[in-house]
Amino acid sequence: MGQYQRPLVSVFLSRLSPDAQMMRLIGSLTELGRSTLDLLVPSHCPFCDEIVDAEGLFCARCFRQVEFVTDPVCAICGVMFSYAGQAGAGSCCSVCLANSPAFSGTRAAFRYDTHARKLILQLKHADRIEFSRILAFHMTRVGSAQLREAQFLVPVPLSRRRLFQRRYNQAALLASAISRATGVMVLPDGLVRRRATQPLGHKTAAERHAVLRDAFAVNPRRMRDIAGRRVVLIDDVMTSGATANGCAVALKAAGAVSVTVLVAARVPDPRLA
Ligand SMILES: [Zn+2]
Ligand SMILES: [Zn+2]
Repeated sequence: MGQYQRPLVSVFLSRLSPDAQMMRLIGSLTELGRSTLDLLVPSHCPFCDEIVDAEGLFCARCFRQVEFVTDPVCAICGVMFSYAGQAGAGSCCSVCLANSPAFSGTRAAFRYDTHARKLILQLKHADRIEFSRILAFHMTRVGSAQLREAQFLVPVPLSRRRLFQRRYNQAALLASAISRATGVMVLPDGLVRRRATQPLGHKTAAERHAVLRDAFAVNPRRMRDIAGRRVVLIDDVMTSGATANGCAVALKAAGAVSVTVLVAARVPDPRLA
């Protein structure tokens, strides 16, 4: 078998140096393996399981139903406006205008509706970690401007107890996938939680902000990495922006030049619907 293979390979590789030959061979085999894998294991629409052309895409029917976030949005917290005239001074919502958060801008790929919720809850609670690549694909697209400026990606951290239960941090998975796509470095342990926080579901936006304002700190080992840098904070969902604000307060205190936020989905403000 080897006697037949060697002459065939050498025909293609004889003009290259040994290292380049090996790299070219590995590259060809990888491509061959990938295209074979695509044929054997086709990509599926994450909502309905229909076969699609490539990973990250939705089938035509689901694509029509998914709500991507499009302008107009608040320039700071990214909340969706129903019409352009809803923005106040500086293109902000009334909440940001009254109490400007520590981060300077937010982009979200999806409105947090039934579809986005399905993907994100399965990523968080059903071990569907492959959904992080799909969400990251759309986050990279919508966050292209802020990612071009960024020097580090920092995921919102989980509490130790939550990390132990879940075994992975979904925000860190999203940050890694975005880092692979863009080359922007990720600091998975850039932020730590000072303490676990109680569930915030029943709290008002003001109460959430008070609870989370000092809930985060920059990891002492990462202080030098953060100081003087432009950071993009990564999370799965933004609701009131209180978590992002708590993280941004800590990052700015450590000397970050700017903090913007990139999330998979943004919960609409019912007052703006
Ligand atoms: Zn579908
Ligand atoms: Zn706002």
